[in-house]
Amino acid sequence: MSITAIIDAAKKDGVVLCFTSSGEIAAKGRKIDIDRWLITFRQNKAELQQLLEPTKVGLSIEDWHEYFNERSKVAQFNGNLSPEETDSVALEWCVEHWLRLHPVNSQSGQCLHCGQSDRLQLPYLASHANQFSNFAWLHNNCAEAWRDQRKSDALSGLKALGLPPNR
Ligand SMILES: [Zn+2]
Repeated sequence: MSITAIIDAAKKDGVVLCFTSSGEIAAKGRKIDIDRWLITFRQNKAELQQLLEPTKVGLSIEDWHEYFNERSKVAQFNGNLSPEETDSVALEWCVEHWLRLHPVNSQSGQCLHCGQSDRLQLPYLASHANQFSNFAWLHNNCAEAWRDQRKSDALSGLKALGLPPNR
């Protein structure tokens, strides 16, 4: 069972996991239900901790799901879309958001994608908004592959958080 599947299955049993301010995992629910899950939680403690711990930028897994659901509702409201389409629009929003929250910097004059320094002209603005200190030096020919890589990093990051959710 994957970590997100464990969290979901426990939730169905009425056991909700959360991350305390002291850095521990706490389970909320009826004791009898919690006891049933305790061994599974202990066996997967490190991974659960990693997943539930608020990220560097202070968004917890629940914040992310809330963000996704909000975006999905906005998409639903704005267009005549199927549930799959609204989820895919919401995921695009999440990718953008993830990229903004995980900005990159590169060493001046070194291509972030291939690591070479020759034939570099100008740095690209790598982050999406407001943080003008975040530039990435990229070759013209490397830019597209680099963007694809960033997007795929974002999708893996979101997948680890259980997004998009299985419906
Ligand atoms: Zn390059």
